[in-house]
Amino acid sequence: MKTIGLIGGMSWESTQTYYRLINEGVKAELGGLHSAKLVLYSVDFAEIESLQHQGNWPATAEILIIAAQALERAGADFIVICTNTMHKVAEQVQLAISIPLLHIADATARVLKNDKIKRVGLLGTRFTMEQTFYRERLEHQGIQVIIPNDVQRVRVHTVIYNELCLGKINNESKQDYLEIVRSLKDQGAEGVILGCTEIGLLIQRSDTDVTLYDTTEIHAQEAVNVALNHLKD
Ligand code: GLU
Repeated sequence: MKTIGLIGGMSWESTQTYYRLINEGVKAELGGLHSAKLVLYSVDFAEIESLQHQGNWPATAEILIIAAQALERAGADFIVICTNTMHKVAEQVQLAISIPLLHIADATARVLKNDKIKRVGLLGTRFTMEQTFYRERLEHQGIQVIIPNDVQRVRVHTVIYNELCLGKINNESKQDYLEIVRSLKDQGAEGVILGCTEIGLLIQRSDTDVTLYDTTEIHAQEAVNVALNHLKD
């Protein structure tokens, strides 16, 4: 089994989901007392969040590079950045290490293609929804991406930083998210990507008949597949 290097803490609310899902995935494959070999480097999210909102992405990249290099020295065979947004600097991180980085958007695109999805809705932080770094990876795979309107994007973003990353689960926010999911479907989305690793804490598949693609689940499963050498391409 390979050793997984997790860069977490963005926020720690979703990192604990990664930790659980990866261990459950290894147990499901190998059975008994098997669990994942992994190293976790968890950052202080307040520092990251403040740099993100200042637009100082190079400084966030430096923090993640320090984490990734430490994980490589600690014996990680590959790196998983436990957030969609911080994949904004994934390429810089990859260039600074000699082990592979499992990109969350590529893992998601693989699942979408497998399901023959051609048009998908995307929920995430404003950085993820509005900038090109994430959407382009899906579009290069021939998948059209639909994002919520301005007002909805602000709502989705605010709930992520002011509630979900603080561990607050609010029913009104859940209803708003479900309404936004519905509106993406009405615009032709065949499914909706939960493109922020905390959104699965708020809405689940059982809440809607729209097909949801939870990136935390997808990325964690990809890490399990790679750790166990099961990745099929
Ligand atoms: N975890 C979230 C994501 O997947 C947002 C927190 C962050 O900005 O990293 O994008």
